[in-house]
Amino acid sequence: MDLQISGKTAIVTAASKGLGKACAAALANEGVNVVINGRTAETLEATAEEIRSGAPGVSVTSIVGTVTDAECRAALIEAAGGAPDILVNNAGGPPPGDFRDWNRETWINAIDTNMLSAIEMVRLTVDGMMERGFGRIVCITSSSVRVPIPVIGLSNATRAGLTNFLFGLAPQVSAGGVTINCLLPGPFDTSRLRDSKPITNHLTSNPIAGRVGDPAELGAICAYLCSAQAGYITAQNIQLSGGLYPGSF
Ligand code: NAP
Repeated sequence: MDLQISGKTAIVTAASKGLGKACAAALANEGVNVVINGRTAETLEATAEEIRSGAPGVSVTSIVGTVTDAECRAALIEAAGGAPDILVNNAGGPPPGDFRDWNRETWINAIDTNMLSAIEMVRLTVDGMMERGFGRIVCITSSSVRVPIPVIGLSNATRAGLTNFLFGLAPQVSAGGVTINCLLPGPFDTSRLRDSKPITNHLTSNPIAGRVGDPAELGAICAYLCSAQAGYITAQNIQLSGGLYPGSF
């Protein structure tokens, strides 16, 4: 299926590893020029090279920095020629723990990383998308938006806030050809899952599916949500957890 986005430009934040990288690679494979970001220059450049070699002819630009930094966000927009067609918002997840140990600074950091940075990226891009009559915004959140996971309260809270903000915005931009959707991963095989013990203990496997997700599976859904064909899908939480979600709605 031709997703009809070849030649478009995407920004994918936090894309040097894991789910963000999978989204960037899937978009590049569709002929989308990608601007990717991460805080570690070496990892980011290696990923940029890997995506380039898998998608010759596509431009892959890397911007080193944290999504919480306004200068980094501005550099991402500039690298996309000031006019990205697609924005995939991602960031590292907040640390797990007990809320009794979290102070105001802990909360502000999590809100900044997992909520405000994404909202800022939307603010900087959505009006241009509407003027050009096409835009796709996808945010990687978590299955914890629907089913809170006790040990990652910072994630439960910040992602729910981001989701409700975005889905209030979605109807305001729909007539401009812009869609806004969220991907809610359950356990996927990434370094976050492998390296974080308290999370690993809770979500090391998916007993319903009998396996964890392959990041490429999420990347493919992301690319589809960014397609021309997905123009009538907006303000949706797309659950990607292999049947782990226990509800019907
Ligand atoms: P990952 O494998 O650890 O990759 C995270 C990526 O984000 C890396 O490229 C990292 O590179 C970059 N990054 C982290 N913080 C950043 C920042 N402030 N600014 C720019 N780049 C940043 O993680 P993942 O599993 O792909 O997870 C991605 C998101 O999905 C996270 O928010 C996570 O909580 C969420 N999620 C994951 C799962 C899962 O099972 N994997 C499930 C539910 C939700 P640098 O460290 O070099 O910056």
